[in-house]
Amino acid sequence: LAQAPATFAARLNPEQKAAVEYADAAPLLVIAGAGSGKTNTLAHRVAHLVLGGADPASILLLTFSRRAAVEMTRRVERILGSASDDPALARAALSWAGTFHGIGARLLREYAERIGLGPAFTIHDREDSGDLMNLVRHEQGLSAKEKRFPTKQTCLAIYSRVVNTGAPLADVLRDAFPWCAMWEDDLKKLFGAYVAAKQRQDVLDYDDLLLYWAHMAAEPTLAAELGQRFAHVLVDEYQDTNRLQASILRALKPDGRGLTVVGDDAQSIYAFRGATVRNILDFPGEFAQPATVVTLERNYRSTQPILAASNAVIGLAAERFTKNLWSERSASQRPQLVTVRDEADQARYVAAQVLARREEGVALKKQAVLFRAAHHSAPLEIELTRRNIPFVKFGGLKFLEAAHVKDMLAVLRWAENPRDRVAGFRAVQLMPGIGPKSAARIVDLVEAANDPVAALADFAPPSSAGEAWAALPALLGDLRLRAAWPADLERVRRWYAPHLERKYEDAAIREADLLQMERIAASYPNRERFLTELTLDPPDATSDESGVPLLDEDYLILSTIHSAKGQEWESVYLLNTVDGCIPSDLATGSSAEIEEERRLLYVAMTRAKDALHLLTPQRFYVTQQSGGGDRHVYAQRTRFIPTSVLEHFEQAVWPVAGSNAAGAVTPPPQAVVDIAAKLRGMWG
Ligand code: ATP
Ligand code: MG
Repeated sequence: LAQAPATFAARLNPEQKAAVEYADAAPLLVIAGAGSGKTNTLAHRVAHLVLGGADPASILLLTFSRRAAVEMTRRVERILGSASDDPALARAALSWAGTFHGIGARLLREYAERIGLGPAFTIHDREDSGDLMNLVRHEQGLSAKEKRFPTKQTCLAIYSRVVNTGAPLADVLRDAFPWCAMWEDDLKKLFGAYVAAKQRQDVLDYDDLLLYWAHMAAEPTLAAELGQRFAHVLVDEYQDTNRLQASILRALKPDGRGLTVVGDDAQSIYAFRGATVRNILDFPGEFAQPATVVTLERNYRSTQPILAASNAVIGLAAERFTKNLWSERSASQRPQLVTVRDEADQARYVAAQVLARREEGVALKKQAVLFRAAHHSAPLEIELTRRNIPFVKFGGLKFLEAAHVKDMLAVLRWAENPRDRVAGFRAVQLMPGIGPKSAARIVDLVEAANDPVAALADFAPPSSAGEAWAALPALLGDLRLRAAWPADLERVRRWYAPHLERKYEDAAIREADLLQMERIAASYPNRERFLTELTLDPPDATSDESGVPLLDEDYLILSTIHSAKGQEWESVYLLNTVDGCIPSDLATGSSAEIEEERRLLYVAMTRAKDALHLLTPQRFYVTQQSGGGDRHVYAQRTRFIPTSVLEHFEQAVWPVAGSNAAGAVTPPPQAVVDIAAKLRGMWG
């Protein structure tokens, strides 16, 4: 046992220390509020296990995002580095840190042959899954049968919820999709055909990664093997896991020994995707030996006024297990509740504040702007660009979701797995003169052939495909050889260049994206890892088309609240703290949904260490669901900050001076609003 210096645990409080050093047979649950050091405790526990002689490869650490896994791994390495003189120890740490989906993909690849999966299986992202669902819908004649049959996205959402919650289809329809209940029989047939299509084509969707893993881990012969392989299983953000994920943990650790989960029920914000807070609340009683429960009540992140306001907001929640937090970080400044006229002023306010804070020495990276929905940041992005303030945006549209990037990945995926119809369908249609009909014929041929490249070469393309056609079998042949990585990607880009040119007016910008992708690809050991990890967790979109700023550059963080989970910044600005945005207009159906929105606000507020600004524009635009374009509405402060908790906030109006000294809103003449809406509508 490497001797840890006294500093190792000196910074931990007694409860944290107990969790870090816990060694009993019963499973361990740490349930505690925001910023109480749960993630930090988990990292120390991993380091403690390694220092105690545990093989790092036997430690499985499950986090909510790949980014969180990377951060956690670095943190563990730092702790080990400072606790031990052995540099090998720090480097050896954590080969199995990742998301449930990412780890599932790796394990399935490794065990593919033993569980009857094709070794070359490819993974569909949500869009690909929607495309396949659509294909099957057509094959089943369901889309033609009745115009009102649920869309591919709705079908996929229903399917996914059944898989992730384990609830019967009828219950899911009744509870979450009542307007689709009449289609139960058709949906059952559709989902059966969808599953069969995936299996025929050797493709897995996101849900399959969990589903196959759960089944694999429960298979008696493999269960023992996996259980031994991962002596320690640790999970962060446990409140946002779903039933299927809980069943994976139970299969890996049937008696709970070696299992540690941490989380905060007050921060459960993914019920809309099938997560259930019951996982964490029921955890203590799930195993033969009841779990040991550790609670933490001291917050190390935020100043006391920020914490008091956050406590007050979550104090109004209907249900909560974790207790109020306290902090020793005193400060006089309460969170700011700032009224601005509209979203343009909101953007100006935030940009000005961010710059002012930077002048005071708070780097851009230590500040973040949060919002409920990805599109809320649009006016701010314009303002930041105008002022040359670099930023990175988390959540919302991802780099790899851009059409041209997906085109290129489809070619790679098809080469990897020629039975992947969605990939093939997309790839061949990049050729001139190939429409959906020819594409379907080609994909059929290739799928059925023993030698996909030869089948492709033998295909007589329509004359409109011209000379470009011959290059495709040649490309596929080269890629199937898996000659070099990431040179393969460059090969695809060169092949794709003329098609890109033909398809898009802004081909030059898009070409730059593809170059950026090659740079990203260079950090992956091989094509398969690249495809898997990027499909599961694509890099985030950024302020400039040449890609993510270099790590040593300074940039502001823009993030949806959902993507901000687990993180912290010195200054936090929350946009649109108004009814309709938070709670979202789309989520005001049930009281459960409203409660989830309240927890979202709590998550947003508790990201702030020193300064918190909640912005309430008095007027903003909403896109109407029922068509008719945009309209502006006069907004109300969010209902989650009622008068009774206002004492915890400092109220301000901005701009202070100007034509409207009181900051009151004068509505613009109606015609101006209409033209603006029309112009936006042209692109919508
Ligand atoms: P969240 O619920 O938001 O995920 P958390 O409970 O995981 O929060 P951490 O992110 O682990 O909290 O910790 C919050 C902050 O408090 C971090 O900056 C961390 O370094 C610091 N911290 C945690 N424990 C201690 C401690 N014992 N002494 C000093 N600082 C600590
Ligand atoms: Mg955390």
